[in-house]
Amino acid sequence: MTSAQVIDGVALSKQLRQQTRERVQTLKKQGITPGLAVILVGENQASQVYVRNKIKACEDTGFYSILEQYPATLSEFELLQRVQALNLDASIHGILVQLPLPEHIDAQKVIEAISPAKDVDGFHVASAGALMVGQPGFWPCTPYGCMKMLESIGYTLRGKHAVVIGRSNIVGKPMALMLLQQHATVTICHSATADLGQITRQADVLIAAVGKQNLVTADMVKPGAVVIDVGMNRNAEGKLCGDVDYEGVKQVAGWITPVPGGVGPMTITMLLMNTLEAAEHALPHA
Ligand code: NAP
Repeated sequence: MTSAQVIDGVALSKQLRQQTRERVQTLKKQGITPGLAVILVGENQASQVYVRNKIKACEDTGFYSILEQYPATLSEFELLQRVQALNLDASIHGILVQLPLPEHIDAQKVIEAISPAKDVDGFHVASAGALMVGQPGFWPCTPYGCMKMLESIGYTLRGKHAVVIGRSNIVGKPMALMLLQQHATVTICHSATADLGQITRQADVLIAAVGKQNLVTADMVKPGAVVIDVGMNRNAEGKLCGDVDYEGVKQVAGWITPVPGGVGPMTITMLLMNTLEAAEHALPHA
């Protein structure tokens, strides 16, 4: 039985981060060090891990980074004031407010307070709008990372059918727009989609971004398809797993991304690349 080729997000990230490091060195010679500010509000354990990984990736790549940690009692007004201060701080090119925020804070309002020029997460409506109309802007890091994975295997999307499962503003919807921009025919599925398998079996490229372990099984995959697993779940043993039944689907797909070691590392890599680009835009001639 044939087995899918693995798209290794760790190896690809390593390669892209090396390229980023080299561009950082060039920028530093011109007097600019890319700077990322990360704001974390509250004690969410998973968020603390994500934030730590982002700061470490910045340090490893030669970025300047700051982590601002606040208690869950921080008011929305105080947070907005911090974002405003960072908008005006010339040493900071990217601002990331780690989600989720405590319930008393309107996350969308906070995201909209970030200057679009520093919106390296790509969640601002200005960034979403730019993607929608095909203008330059920051792309959300997770779907952007998926596009880089497709690029890394030399995959041509023109004329192919891409199926995205999930329609969130941070993964599913921008993912669909990016695939469309590359001339794929795109179908978006969600929780109200009838007969999911009937649609996924038509996919040349299948992207699962749901958050449900084993949602995608081998019988739902077209032989030879590229399967990208964005999901991040914990199985009964507490181990990290995606939305795709990896062992089963591997026997059918042409390409597959593992969890862990697939989309996850790519997300942070694209955050670095967005921040680097924000800093490059700060050059006088840019
Ligand atoms: P989300 O906001 O909860 O969206 C999940 C989407 O899945 C929704 O659109 C939902 O449909 C759809 N859905 C739920 N059940 C479904 C079903 N049975 N069949 C088809 N669609 C279904 O989640 P998200 O933020 O997009 O994240 C998705 C997953 O990716 C999560 O596991 C998350 O942890 C992971 N993630 C990973 C990374 C990474 O770096 N690897 C980054 C971000 C997110 P409705 O819209 O109808 O509710």
